[in-house]
Amino acid sequence: MPTVLDEAILLRRFPYSESSLVARVFSRRHGKIGLLARGAHRPKSRFYCVLDHFDTLELEWRHQPGRELMELRGGDVKTRRAVIATDLETYRAGAVACELVDLACPAGQREQGTWERLSRCLDELSSGERPAWEAAVAFELGFLEEHGICPALELCASCGGAAPPPDPREERACFSASCGGRLCQRCSDEARDSGRRVGTMPLDVLTAASQLLRRRPEGERITPLDAPLLVRLKDFVERFIDHHLEVRAKARGEFLAADDRNTRAALRAQELSR
Ligand SMILES: [Zn+2]
Repeated sequence: MPTVLDEAILLRRFPYSESSLVARVFSRRHGKIGLLARGAHRPKSRFYCVLDHFDTLELEWRHQPGRELMELRGGDVKTRRAVIATDLETYRAGAVACELVDLACPAGQREQGTWERLSRCLDELSSGERPAWEAAVAFELGFLEEHGICPALELCASCGGAAPPPDPREERACFSASCGGRLCQRCSDEARDSGRRVGTMPLDVLTAASQLLRRRPEGERITPLDAPLLVRLKDFVERFIDHHLEVRAKARGEFLAADDRNTRAALRAQELSR
């Protein structure tokens, strides 16, 4: 039975029998896979303290493609990011990123782009070089783009033309998650006529999302987003993902239980409370 060696990030782990562990990991070259770590709970096990969240691991397993669980043979920590779990918001941001991969990536499929984005996000969370939620939201937008479901942020999702605010006195563009994002007035009317849900989205949120996505990954100085805008950006991205995912993700459930933070009424309330 051939064994393979690959880098991996833990997505979820469950106890299995008395002393073993099942780990679902996202690996660099083999995508999302399930591993059985026999005896992992025994202090003398070679996996003891290896299978932790947010670290980049180096794992060796018996490769049996198509199997739901493959046997873990060896493991080591390549990049330790234990610091992520020491701050609640940073931990939550990391959990949201890992959970998205767990829920939305098909098993056994190599996804190089997603691997790089997830590693970068965890590095940023670990180094604290940008606000935790900015790193997580940037990852999520990149993930959506990687999978061809990123919302249209600048042009009309439907006709590809310009999509200026329908009311020039108001900085809001037509937006529909089910139509793929921002819309021009004409396409928004058509979508409404065909029974789709169309609303509006503040321009500052769309612009911030677009900038976060276009930012060059390495080297560029990052100016943190203004905190209230970051919360609204997170609201926008989480709701869009929630619309597209079939299952409600646990890590983002509490945040999404609140009312939409980008409606006119919510924005007015935020203005008043400042
Ligand atoms: Zn259009």
